[in-house]
Formats: sequence, structure tokens, C-alpha cells
Amino acid sequence: MEEPIRLTECDPNFIQEVAEAGGKNVQLCFQCGTCSGGCPTAYAMDYTPRQIIGMVNLGMRNEVLKSGTIWVCSSCYTCMTRCPRGVEITKVMAALKSIAIKSGIETKNKKAAAFYKTFVEVAGAYGRLFEPMLFLKFALKAEDSLTGSVARLLKDAPFGLELTKKGKLAFMPSKVKNMQQIKKIYEKAMGGSK
Ligand code: SF4
Ligand code: SF4
Repeated sequence: MEEPIRLTECDPNFIQEVAEAGGKNVQLCFQCGTCSGGCPTAYAMDYTPRQIIGMVNLGMRNEVLKSGTIWVCSSCYTCMTRCPRGVEITKVMAALKSIAIKSGIETKNKKAAAFYKTFVEVAGAYGRLFEPMLFLKFALKAEDSLTGSVARLLKDAPFGLELTKKGKLAFMPSKVKNMQQIKKIYEKAMGGSK
């Protein structure tokens, strides 16, 4: 960690906040590192899963919520199934994303966060993915300027072409039949209706 830990900036209620958002047993962690050892995306994280759990225990709310790690986690559950202490690591990562969004805290990994948000938007609009829209919206969200967005689209274009050649990319969107059900799922997930 680059900065020293300042106890005055630590939030003693953070473990409880994470538990209420769906990530339990954080306090049982004994820092064995099994989670970090098996994490397929740890190489791209600024803090390993073990460090994140340790930081949650210390109440380092701001640092954890700003971290790019929570957006790099692919929810593969490897860590959670291997943890000898039953720490719900994958659910903790999801809970941290949710708290970060609600708190409006800006992450260090803006692109990964932008991808998550775009994915949710596009899947919510059609009930399934429509990749051309995903590419377009992501390029607009992930970059700070229109020039940057155009450059990203041009960079992704060969990948899109490859997918088209293999018949994996639809040109026109198609919605699932029961969009009402999708709407209800989204409302429930966003805490709108129970
Ligand atoms: S595997 Fe479980 S106990 Fe070990 S460091 Fe990770 S969260 Fe803590
Ligand atoms: S769930 Fe997330 S943190 Fe856990 S091993 Fe998979 S990618 Fe890593």
C-alpha cells in the first residue's frame, strides 16, 4: 500500500455495511491468501482479494471502494469455494460494487466500471445482449472525449468483424418475449420493488 493506514479515517461500521449489502463472514478471515492464490484475475487487480478482505476488516472504506479490484473480479467463485473460513469473498466483491455505485465513489478502474454499467443497460433494454450497442455505448462511456471513443471503436472493429464472420454478431437487436419480467427483475435488483 502506498499510503500509511490512518485509524482516524477508518470506518468501524464498514464490515456491517458490507454484510448488509450481501457479503458475510469477512471478520473470520485469517489472511491465509488462498483466495488470492487461485484468483484468475488477481494479476489485473490493484489489491489482491486477500488484501481487500483485510482492508474491509480494517474499515478502510474509501480505499476499498475506490479500488479497481472490485470491478476486475469476474465473479467466478473460485475464492469463495476454497476459503477455509467461509468468507463470502465473491459476494463481498459484489456488495462492494453496489456500495460504491450508491455512494457515488469514483473508482480507479473507470473502464471496467463503465463496462459493467453498459452491460447492465444493454441487457436491460433488450433482455439479452446486443453486442453492437454494447461496443458503441462502452466506447462513449469509457473514454473522456469523442476522439477517444472513435479511436476505441476503430480498435474494436477488427474483433467485431471476426465475430460477424463467425455468425456471432447480430446486426439488428431482438428483444426477449417477456420484457415485463425483465423489467421486474431489474426493479428488484435495483431495490425498486420487492
Ligand atoms: S481464503 Fe479466506 S481466510 Fe484465506 S485470506 Fe482469503 S478470505 Fe481470508
Ligand atoms: S470471484 Fe472474483 S475475487 Fe474471487 S477468484 Fe473469482 S475473480 Fe477472483
